[in-house]
Amino acid sequence: MVEKKKILSCIQPTGNVHLGNYFGAIENWVNLQEGYDTYYGIVNYHAQTMPYNPAKLRELTWDVALRLHACGIKIENIFIQSLVPEHTELAWILSCMCSYGELSRMTQFKDKSAHLKESDKDYFVSAGLFTYPVLQAADILIYKPHFVPVGKDQEQHLELTRNIATRFNSLVGQDFFPIPEALFTKVPKVMSTADPMRKMSSSMGEKHNIDMFADPAKITKQIKSAVTDSGNVTYPDMSPGVENLFSIMKATGANELYDKMINQYKAGTLRYGDLKSDLAEAIVEFTKPFRRKLDQILSDKKHFKNEIKKASYQTRQVAQETLKNVRNISGLI
Ligand code: AMP
Repeated sequence: MVEKKKILSCIQPTGNVHLGNYFGAIENWVNLQEGYDTYYGIVNYHAQTMPYNPAKLRELTWDVALRLHACGIKIENIFIQSLVPEHTELAWILSCMCSYGELSRMTQFKDKSAHLKESDKDYFVSAGLFTYPVLQAADILIYKPHFVPVGKDQEQHLELTRNIATRFNSLVGQDFFPIPEALFTKVPKVMSTADPMRKMSSSMGEKHNIDMFADPAKITKQIKSAVTDSGNVTYPDMSPGVENLFSIMKATGANELYDKMINQYKAGTLRYGDLKSDLAEAIVEFTKPFRRKLDQILSDKKHFKNEIKKASYQTRQVAQETLKNVRNISGLI
């Protein structure tokens, strides 16, 4: 039997599961379950890199895990990072394969530390925030995947992971880690509807993301208040806000609507109010089955949580095997 190629990807439990997560990554994760050996982690250690509340972190970790299942990820493919503590030991070993200069160039570190500085006069930038791309490299490499389906925002981190893997392989004189490749969706970067120059993100605050599981009234309100332009940008140009609304519309699969509205845009007859209300309807329709599935899951939460724990223990065995070999070939006793 031919062994299936492996896929790994993760999500931080820092807030809700939003349209950026779904269209940028999770949609791919669901499809790749057929034909690949897939591992999808809820990376709760990563959520400790920004200021957080312990009780809220625990709650969000389960919330995100259950929402992934509602999006179509099979329970057996989900794991909780802290139930596989081998990630942190591998992160230590890999941190010695990564330079200070490389970590200082990570744009996510720069963005997140700038955000902390802007939002709090007593801001605190943790060493964990600086080094988390190494933990991310460990999250990935410990499963020796061939592909990592992520949004465009993770491209730089994945490049770092590839460099770290290459250095480790060279240290030990064998191709121990496969060099993983990124897989992107058709919409690899969804922008915030409140500020289309920034990516949609849960860590930047509620208005900067659209929750896949929010009630229809809330989704509609957020889309209706999306930033566009004052009509001064016309075809063939398009402002970032309008472009983002069009790409979200396309991602929902509302192709006829998309073609109709794009033609109106080209002809200069499109009213942004219509674009927003039709898009809101398309999103509400698209997300309806996910909301239904989540309601079912939440009615038997305990069962699903237990299943996720069991799946995490299974996943841990794979991680333990890799770590055992890493310790051995890297000279540890
Ligand atoms: P995070 O929420 O940062 O843990 O991201 C989980 C997954 O969603 C990663 O693969 C990200 O690349 C992807 N992702 C997060 N935000 C966006 C976005 N605005 N557009 C596209 N993909 C995203």
